[in-house]
Formats: sequence, structure tokens, C-alpha cells
Amino acid sequence: MNVSVFGIGYVGLVQGAALAQVGHDVLCVDVDAAKVQALEDGTLPIYEPGLKALVRENHQSGRLRFGTDLAAAVRHGDVQLIAVGTPPDEDGSADLKHVLSVAQTIGEHLQRHATIVDKSTVPVGTADLVRECIAQALADTQRSDLTFDVVSNPEFLKEGCAVEDCLRPDRIIIGTDSPRAEEVMRELYEPFNRNRDKVIVMDVRSAELTKYAANCMLATKISFMNEMANLAEKLGADIEKVRHGIGSDPRIGYQFIYPGIGYGGSCFPKDVQALIHTAEAVDFDARLLKAVESRNHEQKTTLFRKISEHFNGALQGKTFALWGLSFKPNTDDIRQAPSRVLMEALWRAGANVQAYDPKAMEETQRHYGARDDLTLAGTKEAALKNADALIIVTEWALFRAPDFDLLKRQLKQPLIFDGRNLFEPQRLSSRGFTYISVGRPTPVAASDAS
Ligand code: NAD
Repeated sequence: MNVSVFGIGYVGLVQGAALAQVGHDVLCVDVDAAKVQALEDGTLPIYEPGLKALVRENHQSGRLRFGTDLAAAVRHGDVQLIAVGTPPDEDGSADLKHVLSVAQTIGEHLQRHATIVDKSTVPVGTADLVRECIAQALADTQRSDLTFDVVSNPEFLKEGCAVEDCLRPDRIIIGTDSPRAEEVMRELYEPFNRNRDKVIVMDVRSAELTKYAANCMLATKISFMNEMANLAEKLGADIEKVRHGIGSDPRIGYQFIYPGIGYGGSCFPKDVQALIHTAEAVDFDARLLKAVESRNHEQKTTLFRKISEHFNGALQGKTFALWGLSFKPNTDDIRQAPSRVLMEALWRAGANVQAYDPKAMEETQRHYGARDDLTLAGTKEAALKNADALIIVTEWALFRAPDFDLLKRQLKQPLIFDGRNLFEPQRLSSRGFTYISVGRPTPVAASDAS
């Protein structure tokens, strides 16, 4: 099948490569010429495990091509995937300007029947807007006889395992009331659907809402656990024990109930906000989602509060080693990352940051540029040198079993703030560390106790 993908970001690039891998002829286009040139030169704009090899193999075979010629992409695709960004507008609603700009381009250049697919996360009603936009562009050029379908097919990939998610999706949601479009979409995804039928067909609006409902449910689980963690701290309970206690109930389960320092990334924050806004537009007060969002905002500041309390507010001139910049492990994405809220608060208080992340250093450099109070260290050990404390922000596997003796030697004092609860508090205290984590009592460090 000839497939066009508009937008070569996390979704467009990974999905495009996955579709090429199973034999489709995929043309990915983007308005960012530098990104396209870099891809042509073999440089990927993002880090995702397994993506480089997948892109290289399919690019070399000619099944996966990149370009900036949007009109050529419209002419190429029997199926046209819109995978551009939908960032939050100033009021929190999803900004549809990129989606509608692609729709306009499709309308201007369409030459035969095509299935237009909303892959971007878009508010309920967007497929109608895309359809109207294309129909208007066709009418403006006296081509109203051309037919097309607009389908909602939200993307559920997770950054960090996006390739795996696209090659082996756990569900394929298809929102359409057109039997013809359903058949096209089933054929497109047939290669991913062999193990069991993962296709769930529904009306367009339900498909659009399904994506938001999924992300908002996950964000709710996180905020709920963070609320419990904060309460556990006040009550002298241990949230990790509570987590085990509730996760064993199959109705609750162990997934997504880790306490921490808030969710980030390009999806949960904006999607929760956008659904609150969608609800407002139909006169519905999404009280639960507002609480989820507000808990998350506050949670992103908890580590800074703990650090500041520990040092009695005297952070001026202090240096902190920071492990982890990406919003979660296995990605280089720092959009809305808790690390940024923390670093910016530390800088405002006059502290310096020595940071290390296995993949997100370049992104951090690109975002903040050169500044005296930020050192990007070459290794996790180098970040520790003469720091007043270590702060763990992202739970990369690499951080889970550090050399604690080295840590002690490198840090000015054995002090760790852990936003991800990677270690056992008693074990660290018996090694002489002051270990401050989330939702757990802070034991007295062995040397302090003696
Ligand atoms: P991204 O910002 O990484 O990439 C979007 C790309 O679209 C950019 O390269 C941009 O230059 C390009 N673009 C903008 N306007 C264009 C146009 N008119 N024509 C062609 N290209 C254009 O975004 P992303 O993270 O891939 O997300 C895309 C959509 O998918 C969003 O709606 C997002 O919410 C959703 N989504 C993202 C994820 C994720 O994990 N990142 C997961 C599921 C769904």
C-alpha cells in the first residue's frame, strides 16, 4: 500500500518505519527541512531503542523515504496519516493549526480517492473539521467530485518502547462509519494483527475520546499515588509497602502506581489539559481531571521543597548532582520533564547543577544553551564530583545499582534525594547516607545515629 505520513516526530517516524518494515511504501514528509536533511544523512532527530536500525534498513530498501514536498506526499498516499504536533494553545485547548494546515494541503493536491487518518491526538470533533477543510479546498478548486474518507486512528505508542509498540500494538482503534475506510485500515494494519484481532472499530467521536480517556486514566493513577505518597509522609507510613499492598489486587494491578515527582512528557500534561478544556466547551466541569493536573503541578515541586528544607533555604552557591533529565527512562525527551522544574527552581535559589543523563544531554543543551550554573557531565560519576548532594530524577536502569562507596567519596556529604524511590531506605542509612525519598520515612543515617 502507498502510505504518506505528515509529520516526522515520535509518532510519524516510528509509525512510518513500522509500516515500511511490513512492506508498505511509505513517504514521510515534514516542514522542517533540517530534520529531513539529517534523516537523509542518517541522523535520527530522536532517540528510541531499536529505531535507528529500523529506519536505516527500510530507508536503504527504498520502502521508507523522507521529503519536504507535501504535495508529492498527497499524490503518493492511498492512506495519508496526519501525525503532526497538537501542542496546547494558551488556554490549554489543543492547537489544531498544524493538523488543519495538513488538511488544507491534502485538499489542494488530492487527485484520487484517499483515506485520511488522524493519528495525532485531537479533540472530539476534529475529524469533522478535517473533513470540512478538505471538502472546502476541493470546492474552491472545482474538484468536489473527488471522494475521500477521514478516519480517527489514535496512536498509543509509549516513548521509550515506541518501536515495539508500533510493531506489536496492543490495540488498533479505528474510528469510522465508512465500510470502505474500515476495509482500507484493516488492510493497512493486517501485518500487525496476525497474532490476535487487535482492531477495535467504533464511531469517530468515540475513537477520538478513547485516546484522551486512556492518557487521562494513566495520569489519574499517577496523581492518585502521589497523593497517597504525600499522605503517607504525613502519617508515618511507607508508600512502597502500600503500593505492594494495593497492587496485588488484580482490580488495581501493579502498573502505573509508582509514586514519584510527577508525570511529564509531551502527552499526559497537554492531554489532561485539553480534555478539561473540551469538557468546559460543552459546559461540563471535569473536576477529577482538574485535581489530577493540580496534584501533578505540585508534585513536580516536592523534591525542591525537600532539598530547600534540608538546607534551611540556604541553597545559594550549593552544587547538586542530578541523575536523569528525560521525563522518563529510554527517551531523550525533556518536554515538561520534572527535571526542568527542579533545575529551574535550584537556579532561582542560586544553586548549581551538574547533570548526567544517558540520552537527554543534547536536548538539554539545546534547550538551555550554555549557562554557568549548568554542567553537563560526561558520566554519572563525574556529575557527583564535589556536589553537596545527589538528586535522582529519572529512573534509568543505569542508576539503580551505583557504587555507593564511590558516591560517598565524590559527594561532599553522603546525602541523596531520590524522586523515584530506587533504593531501600534502611540499607542506605546503614551505609551512612541520609536518604530522602518520596512517601517514605527518612531513617537516621548510621553515622549520625552513633
Ligand atoms: P513531534 O513534535 O515530535 O513531531 C511533529 C512533527 O510535525 C514535527 O517534526 C513538525 O515539524 C511536523 N509538522 C508540523 N506541521 C507540519 C505540516 N504542516 N506538515 C508536515 N509536518 C509538520 O510530535 P509527536 O510527539 O510525534 O506527536 C504527534 C502527535 O501524536 C501529537 O498529537 C501527540 O499528542 C500524538 N502522540 C504522541 C505520542 C508520543 O509519545 N510522542 C504518543 C501518542 C500520540
